Amino acid sequence: MKFGGEALRNENRVFHTANIVKKFRTKETVVVVSAMSGITDKLYNLSKNVLTMNESEIKEKVDEIKKRHKKVIEKCVKKDYQEECKKILNDLIERLERTLLGILYVGELTPRSQDLVLSFGERLITPIFAYVLKSLGIDSIHFTGSEAGIITDSNFGRANPLWEKTRTLVKERLENILNEKVPVISGYIASDEKGRVTTLGRGGSDYTATIIGSCLDVDEIWLFKDVEGLMTADPKIIPDAKIIRKISYIEAMELAYFGAKILHPKALEPAMEKNIPVRIKPLFNPEDDGTLITSECKKSKDIVKAIAVRKNVAALNIFGAGMVGLPGIAARIFNALARNNINILMISQGSSETNISLVVEREDLNKAIEAIREEFKNENVIKNIDCNKDVAILAVVGAGMKGTRGVAARVFSAVARAGVNVLMISQGSSEVNISFVVEEKDANIALKALHKEFIC
Ligand code: ASP
Ligand code: MG
Repeated sequence: MKFGGEALRNENRVFHTANIVKKFRTKETVVVVSAMSGITDKLYNLSKNVLTMNESEIKEKVDEIKKRHKKVIEKCVKKDYQEECKKILNDLIERLERTLLGILYVGELTPRSQDLVLSFGERLITPIFAYVLKSLGIDSIHFTGSEAGIITDSNFGRANPLWEKTRTLVKERLENILNEKVPVISGYIASDEKGRVTTLGRGGSDYTATIIGSCLDVDEIWLFKDVEGLMTADPKIIPDAKIIRKISYIEAMELAYFGAKILHPKALEPAMEKNIPVRIKPLFNPEDDGTLITSECKKSKDIVKAIAVRKNVAALNIFGAGMVGLPGIAARIFNALARNNINILMISQGSSETNISLVVEREDLNKAIEAIREEFKNENVIKNIDCNKDVAILAVVGAGMKGTRGVAARVFSAVARAGVNVLMISQGSSEVNISFVVEEKDANIALKALHKEFIC
């Protein structure tokens, strides 16, 4: 079971969450927790601003974080354990403060020191949550991600598990205690082979849960969220959106990548490899089945399962007759963007080869144009780069589209009838997803039209 930030917003929610563990735990249950809501953001801002702050400002900010955790201890931890638990809190808070002061004195924030700062959100709440469980009579024991056995590469900020090591260690450290105690593990954080703290990318505690679940070959992984489950569309835009009761890993992954922001994009991979079902469970209605994600990709009457929208993106159109028939241009464009750490969200090239269109995060647009110009300076390959910075991607997702004729026609007819112009199209050959780009102002109109056409 994994509990995210909203589950741990304040002392009342922590109590609610601990009771979910009490109620639903089976003979062998592992709990993964992420930071209290907003704490990782706070730590992120703190790390970014620490060089412009003075010591007392830093102490003040750290104190705010301490207070939120202290409140949880005072409200949810049994009197007998409070002193022990507060001591752990004070020690960690002192370490956080020293880390921040260290960054201030050295005058430099590196990806490594930033990960160390970011790790404190999970490190603080994990032991406290274990004490809350103990207070409810559940024998529990707390671990950081690396204590539980997760070892990663040294890609700070977005580390990847070293699978062989991780599998052996997680089994070694957890398997024997499982039938006696409930391990409470901090999500999102791990360490590299040298023992330096790493993080798995924002929202990474989902990933921790599936890594641990896969290493232990668990029966099911439950991710508790403050939503009812995966939805057919964003309910804030489509009030009729429905819960998707069953979905395949592949489809759910498409949705995760498309900014549904409910799941960490990499989280389903370890579960999929071992064929372990993942459930998105509603935090405030824990009896409900939520959404079940499995390998089953059965063709159902729902050709389209969901429609996702990603806003805040920008499109680039790279022109030049010089590109025709010249191999390696696309590779050079992609490399130039990769070197500058720019993520490409969508690609399309017409077969005339005179242009390549790309979509990137809006905040990366200028950097992307510069990187491409720099790569091809002094060459007569690229004539022009057009851009449109106010666009959105719509992704129509459903395994039932595979081999069903006429889906694309229905998608684009529905969009056209709604009066929306399509700027760029891409369909992967997996046929699980048709994506296209529209002006951002048209995104909701297109979404409504498609939801009506395919879902309700
Ligand atoms: N606390 C981390 C974050 O906010 C990890 C997580 O929430 O899953 O990104
Ligand atoms: Mg979080």
